[in-house]
Amino acid sequence: MNLNELVNRNKEYTKHGNVANYIPELSKANPNCLGVAVAKCGESVIAAGDSNIKFTIQSISKPLILIMALLDYGEEIVFSKVGKEPTGDSFNSIRRLETINEFTKPYNPMINAGAIAISSLIKGKSNNEKIERILNFIRKLSNNNDIKINMDVYLSEKRTGNKNRAMAYFLKDIGILEGDVEEILDLYFMHCSIEADIIDLANIARVLACAGKDPLTNEVIIPRRIVQIVNTLMTTCGMYDESGEFAVNVGLPSKSGVGGGIMTVVPGKMGIAVYAPALDKKGNSVAGVKLLEDISNEYNLSIY
Ligand code: GLU
Repeated sequence: MNLNELVNRNKEYTKHGNVANYIPELSKANPNCLGVAVAKCGESVIAAGDSNIKFTIQSISKPLILIMALLDYGEEIVFSKVGKEPTGDSFNSIRRLETINEFTKPYNPMINAGAIAISSLIKGKSNNEKIERILNFIRKLSNNNDIKINMDVYLSEKRTGNKNRAMAYFLKDIGILEGDVEEILDLYFMHCSIEADIIDLANIARVLACAGKDPLTNEVIIPRRIVQIVNTLMTTCGMYDESGEFAVNVGLPSKSGVGGGIMTVVPGKMGIAVYAPALDKKGNSVAGVKLLEDISNEYNLSIY
């Protein structure tokens, strides 16, 4: 079965789930969309379905800013701020922060609390400089110089993101966040609102699949050790509190975002990205997950 057939077969799943609306601007997405892009190491990108729709990457920015923080500060400092363990809770849960004394830091960088902590580590003299660094890094990984922020989504989340705000102030209180909390949150909301399509995300995933190398220039953009850390944390924590089930059924390092995208790494082989904005209760794209299950089974891609 080819990619077009796999998309058609899973189209019915776009009727399941709901488009995110807790960030009001996200509710404008068309729930009927479904698309996939595949970027094999050393080949050009192929796509099927709705492949040119732009959406905000949301939590897919989390592994990318983790890479930047690891490049800037190294493992010891980064993992003094966040752990490496899954929570089994929802991505925006505040529950475990209260029992944080046992652990002293957010459980991992793929949940909101952990990603806010990582945002505080992005280097730059001002937020403008920091977001420009993040955008340039994503432009380089995606090979697309037009990557930018969707200002409507950014402002919508900035206006409504009070749970993230509460978490950030808690993290400040226990000494995980240094600096101005509102500025750190602002950077977090901005990088969540970066807009891309599945071709961009497949290109980014391909760099992670090719051991950190840009397949066009052979430049090592991400050192092997950081690729290993990020791929592992995407496997264990990248699909919210469905990461275990996803690992069983798809078996590939992946990160999803509430914008409806999923970025998937097939180590040594290819990057894949899917888009379908109707989400299940945990926050994962229903049709996107189904499509990835089919692709993984059809082409025998699970790493397990
Ligand atoms: N900006 C979103 C939030 O903080 C990201 C959530 C997600 O994609 O998981 O709620």
